[in-house]
Amino acid sequence: MSGIGKGIATASIGRILKSKGFSVTAIKIDPYINVDAGTMNPTEHGEVFVLDDGYETDQDMGNYERFLDESLPSINYMTTGRVYQEVIRRERNLEYHGKNVEVVPDIPLEVIRRIKEAQKEAEVDITLVEIGGTIGEYQNIIFLEAARMLRQQCPDDVAVVMLSYVPIPNNIGEMKTKPTQYASRELNSVGLQADVILARASAPLDQKRKEKIATFCNIVPDHVISAPDVESIYDVPINFEKDGLGKILCGVLGLKDKPAHLQDWENFVAKVKNGNRKLNIAVVGKYFMSGDYVLSDVYISVIESLKHAAAANDVEVKLSYLDSEEYEKDASKLEELKQYNGIIVPGGFGSRGVEGIISAIKFVRENKIPYFGLCYGMQLMVVEYARNVAGIEDAHTAEIKPDAKNTVIDLMPEQKEKIAKGNYGGTMRLGSYPCKLKEGTIARESYGSSEINERHRHRYEVNPNSIGKLTQAGLKFSGVSPDDKLMEIAELPKKDHPFLLGTQFHPEFKSRPLNPHPLFVAFIKAVAKK
Ligand code: GLN
Repeated sequence: MSGIGKGIATASIGRILKSKGFSVTAIKIDPYINVDAGTMNPTEHGEVFVLDDGYETDQDMGNYERFLDESLPSINYMTTGRVYQEVIRRERNLEYHGKNVEVVPDIPLEVIRRIKEAQKEAEVDITLVEIGGTIGEYQNIIFLEAARMLRQQCPDDVAVVMLSYVPIPNNIGEMKTKPTQYASRELNSVGLQADVILARASAPLDQKRKEKIATFCNIVPDHVISAPDVESIYDVPINFEKDGLGKILCGVLGLKDKPAHLQDWENFVAKVKNGNRKLNIAVVGKYFMSGDYVLSDVYISVIESLKHAAAANDVEVKLSYLDSEEYEKDASKLEELKQYNGIIVPGGFGSRGVEGIISAIKFVRENKIPYFGLCYGMQLMVVEYARNVAGIEDAHTAEIKPDAKNTVIDLMPEQKEKIAKGNYGGTMRLGSYPCKLKEGTIARESYGSSEINERHRHRYEVNPNSIGKLTQAGLKFSGVSPDDKLMEIAELPKKDHPFLLGTQFHPEFKSRPLNPHPLFVAFIKAVAKK
């Protein structure tokens, strides 16, 4: 079932095996027709996570990178669309030599080829493959068939882990294993037998339930692992290890077990929970609501980055989501921003709520509240500064007002050409790009190095024609591309503001629990001082 934590479970298994000294990589399979996650609406699918090589993927890739503390390549992400696209490309290219190309076995064979290629590229001992969706649904059947074929090819090298939801219905207050029993049978019906079952429930499993699941799902009770709700997602590897999951998997895979060194992870988790002060941070933007629910999934990497940086600073953060459209309706509401120790404006697209965001940035600049702008949050910080400090009254981003006289944020000439030809596809700057940092700036001081690489996902840039005026008015472009053409970081000097900094890139994609991002750490430090 979606949403019960397959991604975190996979990532946690990765952390455990890595802490035992194995090299590990992880692959995510999404059973959509979409070729990548780039075209999916965030309110429907959650965050689009961008890899170093620019591939737009599912947020679980972010979980893997965070738990494994490693950057993953695009071969580690596949969708139904991507797999079919490759098979059809090959067919058109006569690579099947006149044979009939069939859903089975050609599609599963391509899935297996990709799994093996990912394994080869990463040169690892263990490759984790997460199959999205629910057992029994139509969409993921070819991936399960791939798993079956792979296991048939190398029976001793494949372990099957099933994550199953074990409900405790309110009215009976008892844990029910029946759905797990049916799921296990569904899995059998596609020729697979689980070696391990992770039982996701609100509470830990008792021995009786373990035995029941074992009996009806055909495995030994020790291989039924309790996966109760936990306070922090980062607890999950520690919890799994309590049930000896790492050792069990080594046993199934015929690997010699080694002790797990989870101490650094445990120290981090302890810090996540025991921050000595709570700081209130507001995320200002749109995309927050779906019906009555706040969609924090859209900003998962930002949220996790804040947690990592908070732990590094021995504090805790409490996040609130503020809808910027409210400030457009009633400017007096901006006063609420004073209750917060810091403000973040994350990435975004389109015009909704933008004027409200610009008013919020003006407010925090004037009231010296720490501000961190990510991508759109940087662009709008530049627009605000242009309008209200540099005196460029009609300043705007071309994304919203393409015919404005002063588009301080605009497309670069090469992109304009492409768009004029109706070729929207290649107009985003995606993936990792180098950036030089200027001496004596917050950015340079935070990173402790003069050249960095960060991941991008945007179309617009600071307009080269506006740089002179903005700089004269006091805005500092502390990070620029190696050829000096693209402005990557904007900030105000410390003497003017405790922390007003925006990045054209998305630093949140590179923050890890054991390697918090330097700019998030610097932001939290400034927030803690406030
Ligand atoms: N909409 C902006 C652009 O395309 C910012 C994108 C983002 O925040 N990821 O440039």
